[in-house]
Amino acid sequence: MGDDEEYAMTNDLSVPYLPTQLIIGGTGRDAASGATFEVTDPATGKVLSKVADATPEDGILALDSAAAAGAAWSRVPPRRRAEILHRVHDLLMERTDEFARLITLEMGKSLAESRTEVAYAAQFFRWFAAETVRIDGQWKVSEDGSARVLVMRQPVGPCLLITPWNVPLAMPARKIAPALAAGCTVVVKPAEETPLTTLKLAGVLAEAGTPDGVVNVIPTSRPAEVTGPLIRDDRLRKLSFTGSTEVGRILLAAASSRVLRTSLELGGNAPFLVCQDADVDAAVRGAITAKTRNIGEACVAANRFYVHAGVADEFVAKFTDRMRALRVGPGTAPETDLGPLINGRQRERVAALVDDAVRHGAQVLTGGVVPSGSGFFYPPTVLTDVSPAAAITREEIFGPVAAIQTFTDETEAVRQANDTEHGLVSYLYTRDLTRAVRLSEQLESGMVGLNRGLVSDASAPFGGVKQSGLGREGGNSGITEYLEEKYIAIDIPE
Ligand code: ADP
Repeated sequence: MGDDEEYAMTNDLSVPYLPTQLIIGGTGRDAASGATFEVTDPATGKVLSKVADATPEDGILALDSAAAAGAAWSRVPPRRRAEILHRVHDLLMERTDEFARLITLEMGKSLAESRTEVAYAAQFFRWFAAETVRIDGQWKVSEDGSARVLVMRQPVGPCLLITPWNVPLAMPARKIAPALAAGCTVVVKPAEETPLTTLKLAGVLAEAGTPDGVVNVIPTSRPAEVTGPLIRDDRLRKLSFTGSTEVGRILLAAASSRVLRTSLELGGNAPFLVCQDADVDAAVRGAITAKTRNIGEACVAANRFYVHAGVADEFVAKFTDRMRALRVGPGTAPETDLGPLINGRQRERVAALVDDAVRHGAQVLTGGVVPSGSGFFYPPTVLTDVSPAAAITREEIFGPVAAIQTFTDETEAVRQANDTEHGLVSYLYTRDLTRAVRLSEQLESGMVGLNRGLVSDASAPFGGVKQSGLGREGGNSGITEYLEEKYIAIDIPE
C-alpha cells in the first residue's frame, strides 16, 4: 500500500484507501462465507459501505496468523519497533483530514472533533514508541543472600482487542500501540458500527513497516460467535475490551474459564461537582467539554451534575446558554458542533431517559424534543430538579443531556456521587486546595478531573474502579498490561 498508485481513491466517499475486507496475515480477504454487512452514516441513515463479515473460521485464521507472527515480532529490536510506531504517528498526522472524514462519516461526530481524535490516536503511537525502548527489569540480591533475583518482562503473547464505535480510531490505537510496543501480536475486533476507520488504521500500520500477521482485523456482525472460540483457544493470552459494563461482565466470565489475562474499560456514570467556591465560568467551560465532547457518547462524559445551591442559578443560566447555542447538524458540515447519535436505538434510549426524568419532576430548560427528519439527531438538553429516583441518575446517558441536581451539604454530595456501581471519572470544581484534595481522595473513581473537564491523555493512566473496569491504558502502566513478569532465581552458594 506504500506507493502512490496503490494509495489511490478506492471508493466514492472521498476517502483515499478505504479497505472493506478482513485483514488476516497482511492480506485483505473476503469472509469465508462471502457475506458482508452494511455500515451506515448516522447523519443520514444511508449505507456508506459494505464490509466483509467475519465468521468464526475467519476468527481462528486471524488467531493462527497472530500466533505464527508472534515469535518473530517479539524478537524485533525495540528500537525498530519504536521506529515503526513513530512512523504510524507521523502517517496518521499527515493524513489527519482523510481519517477525520472517515470517522465523521461512520460515527457522526463533527470534523473538528474527529481531527482531535486523530491527534489523540497518534499520541498513543508516539507515547508507546518511547516506552518500547524502556522495557526494563531488575537485578537484586535475595533477602538471605543465597540467590540472585533476576526479573525480566516478556510480551504476554497474542491478544484479542475488542473496541467500541464511539472512538473508532483512538480506542484501537490505545490498545494496538502498547501491545505492539510490548512485542505482542493482535487480532482486532472493531465495533460493527465503525469498522472502516480501524481497517484503514491497519493499512497505515502495514505501511509503517509492521510485519504481516502482527495486526489482524476481523469486523463481524456476530461478535459473540466470532470472539468466543478465540477466547477459548489456548494460544490467545490476553483480552482487552472497551465497551459496555454488560458485555464486559460476559467477557470476564468467558475469560475466567482459561484464567485469561483481561483488561476492561467499561461504562461510566461520572459525577460533576461544582462547589460553592468554584470559578463558575471555568466550571461552565469544563461542563460543556465533559458533557458534549463526542456528542456525549463517551464513557467519561459527565452524567450527573451536583451544583452547590449558592452558585446553582449562575451555573445553570450560563451553562444552559452555552448548550442552547450549540449547532446540531451533520458532522461533515463545517459549522456543526454536535453531530447525530450513532443510531435510532441509542436516540430512543436517550429520549426515554429524558422522558422518565420529566415524569419524576425534572424541568427541561432547553432541548428534550426529538427532531423530525433523517439522521439520528438529538438536541443539547438541560434538565434541572432531577430526582435521584430518575433512571437518568443511574444509567449511562451517552447523549448530550445534562441532568442537574443541587446540594448544600458537601458530604451528602460526595455520598451521592459515589452511589453508583461505576467509578471511571469524577469532575470537581473548587478553588479551595484543602477541599480539592479531600474530595479527590473521597471520590470513588479511577480518575478525577480537578478544575478540568477533560482527563483523556496518552501520558496518563486511563481506567476505572468498581464496575468501570480492570487495568489501565496509557501512561506508565499501559504497556505493563501487555507484559508478563518472569523471575529467575539464580543459586549463589556461600
Ligand atoms: P455499545 O453498547 O456501546 O455498542 P458494546 O459493549 O455492546 O457497546 O460493544 C462494544 C464492543 O463489544 C463492540 O465491538 C461489539 O461488537 C462487542 N461485543 C458486543 N457484544 C459482545 C459479545 N457478547 N462478545 C464479544 N464482543 C461483543
